[in-house]
Amino acid sequence: MQICVIGCGYVGLVTAVCFAEMGNSVTCVDSNGERIAALEKGISPIFEPGIEALLQSNIAGRRLTFSSSLAAAAPDAEIVFIAVGTPSASDGAADVSQILAVAQALSEHLSKPAIVVCKSTAPVGTACRVQAILDQTSAGLQHRVVSNPEFLKEGDALNDFMRPDRIIIGTDDRHSQRVMHQLYEPFVRNHDRIMFMSRRAAEMTKYAANAFLATKISFMNEMAAFCDEFAVDVEQVRKGIGADQRIGHHFIYAGCGYGGSCFPKDIRAMLHMAETQGTRMPILEAVEARNQLQKEWLFRCLQRSLGQDLRGVTVAIWGLAFKPGTDDIRDAPSRVLIESLLATGARIQAFDPIAADNIARCYARAVAEGQLALGDAHYAVLNNADALVLVTEWKQFRQPDFALMRTLMRRPLLLDGRNQYDPQQVERAGFAYHGVGRPASR
Ligand code: NAD
Repeated sequence: MQICVIGCGYVGLVTAVCFAEMGNSVTCVDSNGERIAALEKGISPIFEPGIEALLQSNIAGRRLTFSSSLAAAAPDAEIVFIAVGTPSASDGAADVSQILAVAQALSEHLSKPAIVVCKSTAPVGTACRVQAILDQTSAGLQHRVVSNPEFLKEGDALNDFMRPDRIIIGTDDRHSQRVMHQLYEPFVRNHDRIMFMSRRAAEMTKYAANAFLATKISFMNEMAAFCDEFAVDVEQVRKGIGADQRIGHHFIYAGCGYGGSCFPKDIRAMLHMAETQGTRMPILEAVEARNQLQKEWLFRCLQRSLGQDLRGVTVAIWGLAFKPGTDDIRDAPSRVLIESLLATGARIQAFDPIAADNIARCYARAVAEGQLALGDAHYAVLNNADALVLVTEWKQFRQPDFALMRTLMRRPLLLDGRNQYDPQQVERAGFAYHGVGRPASR
């Protein structure tokens, strides 16, 4: 099939390479010319394990091309995926202006009837708005708009796309259902996991899934705070409740809050959608409030241990990405910590195997002024540090040499934002240890 994917970010690029890998002819469009120039050379603008190999093999196989011109790339497409961003507006609403701008441009450039697929996460009714734009302005061509939200996880995106738990197709149109089924069939060969529903239900399903996952995290973080009150280790409680099959072990880890490009903005968008309907979502309001508290927990814990005034204090940070396996720092807990530390005049020495460049760009001034130093090795950032804060649980931080760390640091204080370490082991190595909802933190 002739496919055009608009937006070469985490979702668009993965979508494009996976469809190309299945033998389709895919053109990717992005308004960012630098991204396109890099992609044409086989260089991925985002970090995602395995993506560059697929990118390069599909470019070599002539199944994948790139363009910064929608006018040049879109006309012959049978299926067009819209995978542009839907960031939070200042009032929390999902800003769908990128989607609507693409719809407008498509209405001018599509030269034959196409299936236009909204892959971006967008409020209920957005696909209908795209349909209305295409209906009004296309020269008599009947385009069909489908909602097909994406569920991939950064860090494991290729695997998620190639072996999805489910594929949600929102359309009542028979022709679109047939074509979309045919397109996704290679990804669900062992058993059919394609679900058809209305466009609005598809859009809602994506939000409901993210809201549920965020709720699990905030619930567990609240349990951690509760455990703290009673000197109970939340890790023992986690294992105890996870064994119940109705609860399960996934996604019930206490930590320093959820971040990334999806949960925070999608929860905010849902709260805004509720407001526009004149209703409230008290559970989601609490999910967000708990997450905010959780993201501030590391800084508060540092102040409790080292004093309110952190001027002259050096804090080492391990992990900056919002989670392991990605370079994405959007809404990352590390940023809340960094910003609080910078505001109080502390000095930061941080390491992340992938996301350091993004943080350096984001806090260029602090880097230039020497308040934020980004190291190229995890032990190197410990030199003369007054505390180490583990923010992102990259595998390479799992079994560190505590004895060596003790010799490098000025003060032996370890804040474990992801409950990665055994408190007793860390304390035996001479550290004061604080985890999230763990007795040692009392
Ligand atoms: P992203 O910011 O990484 O990528 C968006 C891309 O769209 C950028 O490269 C940008 O330059 C491009 N773009 C913007 N306007 C354009 C235009 N008019 N024409 C061409 N290109 C344009 O975003 P993302 O993380 O890939 O997310 C895209 C959507 O998918 C969002 O709605 C997001 O909520 C959703 N989503 C994201 C994930 C994830 O893990 N990142 C997972 C599921 C769903």
